Amino acid sequence: MHEATLVESILNIALEAAEKNHATKIFTVGLTLGELAGVEVEALRLSFDVLKKNTPADDAELVINRVPITAACNKCGKIFQLERYNFFCPECDGILILQSGRELLVDFVDCE
Ligand SMILES: [Zn+2]
Repeated sequence: MHEATLVESILNIALEAAEKNHATKIFTVGLTLGELAGVEVEALRLSFDVLKKNTPADDAELVINRVPITAACNKCGKIFQLERYNFFCPECDGILILQSGRELLVDFVDCE
């Protein structure tokens, strides 16, 4: 399952950060997640709760910062917030270029 693999990498990053800081407990893991990253938040949370067991992140909370999909028109330069990725400008039929929405990264790790 895609989300489980993802959570494994997230946990690895968090555990490495804790180790570097000689921390024994992780409180919060902050994640930036674009709407277009193709990740099911519920599945992600579920995997996190399962995989964190018996690690220093046992009680850690996953905080997810969702990033909307935005795109800029290559003709008129307008920036649109999109529900889904759309290739053409609704105003002038220019081509939309994705600005944000694909983000997938660990923002911060709060540990002891
Ligand atoms: Zn346009």
